[in-house]
Amino acid sequence: MLIIDNILIIIISLIFIILIIIFTTRNNKKSYIVREFYSLGTSNQLKAYGKKASKAIEESIIKVCEIDNKMSVFKNDSEISKINKNAGNKPQIVSNDTYYVIQKAIKYCTLSEGAFDITIRPIVSLWGIGKEGQQVPSSNEIKEKLKIVNYKDIVLDKDDRSIFLKNKKQEIDVGGIAKGFAADEVKNVMIKNGIKSALINLGGNILTLGTKIDGTPWSVGIQDPFKTRGEFALTISVINKSVVTSGNYERYFEVEGKRFHHIINPSTGYPSESDIVGATIISDNSIDGDGLSTGVYIMGVEKSIKLIEEIEGVDAILITKSKEIYVTSGMEGKFTITGQEFVYKNRI
Ligand code: ADP
Ligand code: MG
Repeated sequence: MLIIDNILIIIISLIFIILIIIFTTRNNKKSYIVREFYSLGTSNQLKAYGKKASKAIEESIIKVCEIDNKMSVFKNDSEISKINKNAGNKPQIVSNDTYYVIQKAIKYCTLSEGAFDITIRPIVSLWGIGKEGQQVPSSNEIKEKLKIVNYKDIVLDKDDRSIFLKNKKQEIDVGGIAKGFAADEVKNVMIKNGIKSALINLGGNILTLGTKIDGTPWSVGIQDPFKTRGEFALTISVINKSVVTSGNYERYFEVEGKRFHHIINPSTGYPSESDIVGATIISDNSIDGDGLSTGVYIMGVEKSIKLIEEIEGVDAILITKSKEIYVTSGMEGKFTITGQEFVYKNRI
């Protein structure tokens, strides 16, 4: 009897050990597929977990490149370039995607009272932003070009699905919102492929799908605007959220120690000089976060907090020149300041 009992114990123990081995090796296999690629004028990273993760990522990259081809102002045959070439002349029929992005962009031009204005392109070109030959233009040149900056001159025709710019030489640039749209489209591709956990990073525009594999929220770092890329001022935990930041630290050039960055204030024609140096928007859809972050950056703390508090389901984290951090009420208690020199201000 004793021998049989011992054998039984050994067998049961062995089964347990085998089960533990199967369980742990299975768990180890739970890893993300990660791909990096260049598009939309920036480097992007997609990270997905699921049976069809590879397929989902392949399809996503194709979708992002399609969006770049349709909406890049740097591609001669993009739909945006065609609209610009036909300015003051005739309407341009565009795809559903481009029509949708322009429509959304105009919504955020209006909400920000023109701080975000996609007709800013002639001024952006003057500064040479986004290509070689960046320079400080003369104030006369700026004054001249500012006359044709006005998003109210964009005419949309829903039936024809066409876009028309009223005045010759007017040009639009959806660079301040297209990455957000692209991220939302990637998320849709992931969902269609049954992916439940993914991290979409399009040039720093973050969109998270679900939780991490282990069920915990994603931790997203908000760039310290005073440090180089990858050093954070604070972190936030999110599930199914978009986290988009506009800052002066990504694209800029310096002349005699003065920094000229790529976010232009449409009322002056010069890089924005509000009290904000980093504007982060947290929202469900990334197109909303991207459309708002550029405008909010220009509007400054007081106006921006007021505006974002009024928009349901959208929050903001603003970092100022004097290293203060302001957040909207929905973000209170949901972030951790990691940069020691930053001071949290809970009221304006
Ligand atoms: P990033 O492209 O670095 O993520 P943003 O989303 O803030 O940053 O967009 C900045 C881009 O938007 C600029 O490169 C420029 O093409 C365009 N832009 C600059 N100023 C404005 C503005 N006031 N309104 C709309 N678009 C702008
Ligand atoms: Mg933006």
